[in-house]
Amino acid sequence: MSTLLPFLPLMPEESVTSYAARVTALHHGGSARAFLRCLGVAYAPIVAGDPDALAAFADLTAVPADDIARAALTARGHIHCFRGELVQQKMLRCAQTHICPRCLAADIATSTLPTTAAVYGRMIWQFRPIRACPHHHVLLEPIGEAGHGDNAHDFARTIASTLSTIDDRATSAQPVERSAAEAYLVARFSNTPTPSPLLDAMPWYAAARTCEAVGIVALHVANVERRALSEVARREAANHGFHIVHGGEASVRSFLDDLRGRQKTWKPEYHGSRTPYGSLQVFLTFPRPDPGYAPLRRIVHEHALQHIPFGPGDRVVGFPSIVDGFTRSRRQLSRPGSIPSASAKFRSRKGSSHRMPR
Ligand SMILES: [Zn+2]
Repeated sequence: MSTLLPFLPLMPEESVTSYAARVTALHHGGSARAFLRCLGVAYAPIVAGDPDALAAFADLTAVPADDIARAALTARGHIHCFRGELVQQKMLRCAQTHICPRCLAADIATSTLPTTAAVYGRMIWQFRPIRACPHHHVLLEPIGEAGHGDNAHDFARTIASTLSTIDDRATSAQPVERSAAEAYLVARFSNTPTPSPLLDAMPWYAAARTCEAVGIVALHVANVERRALSEVARREAANHGFHIVHGGEASVRSFLDDLRGRQKTWKPEYHGSRTPYGSLQVFLTFPRPDPGYAPLRRIVHEHALQHIPFGPGDRVVGFPSIVDGFTRSRRQLSRPGSIPSASAKFRSRKGSSHRMPR
């Protein structure tokens, strides 16, 4: 296959779809899908992370195939994979493009390329749990729907109408505090992740959701609906939750003790219900228990067995509670399918089940 000249480098952190759009903007303009089709490369498989399509695109652009592969998001049904980390489809912003205007202003200021080929989309902007730029510490901003068809995933065309106001956007961007949760999540995509034993034992999507869910319950009323909170409030909650979970099992147990302390009075109808864990219990069980959350569910379950009276048939965080006392519950814990065996299964797959080869 012929190689496009001049060579356009793939930028650090750039998504492969942004790169495809910039290649098109530099050489042809118009639709990336149509341009690549004319050159014998299918666009949709690139968006889906198909290895053969990515290899063909690497040949066309002369970018090393490994670099192209590391910039791609691979679709596996409702789960996507980026650099070995699993991200749920619902965590992707998809056509609702977000940007850091200060990153884009810097792209323009430091490039000799035409503007539409100079600005590029960072992969992490596509992930909903990342709400601020890790370099400029301002909130990411939506720039409207990209639409469908040829415009879908075409960053250069999506951003085009925003470029005239990018300096104003860069000036007015909303500064925010650094988030340890976001820093941890971003670092998992790098070669130097930040160790955090409980979160490291979860897939990326579960680590992200765990931080937010724990933080929301810690900072708000137990049964708060997370969608009722603003993005800024959810970001603050995720950061708070990260510090709790990052502190390890003792820190999580202390947090659960605090939740229990909020329960001033016990009412029989509350036994085995969402209280005192509130939305945390819903998060761990709805629509069904996800093995990705096993490290947190094990701690919550054991805490419940130790501190909360349950009746026969009650369930907590998706697993049977005690029937006639804690001693019997300990025997239940050793049965196949109970919490320890389930979490042991998860741990046995750790390193292979929730991470794909980078
Ligand atoms: Zn930025």
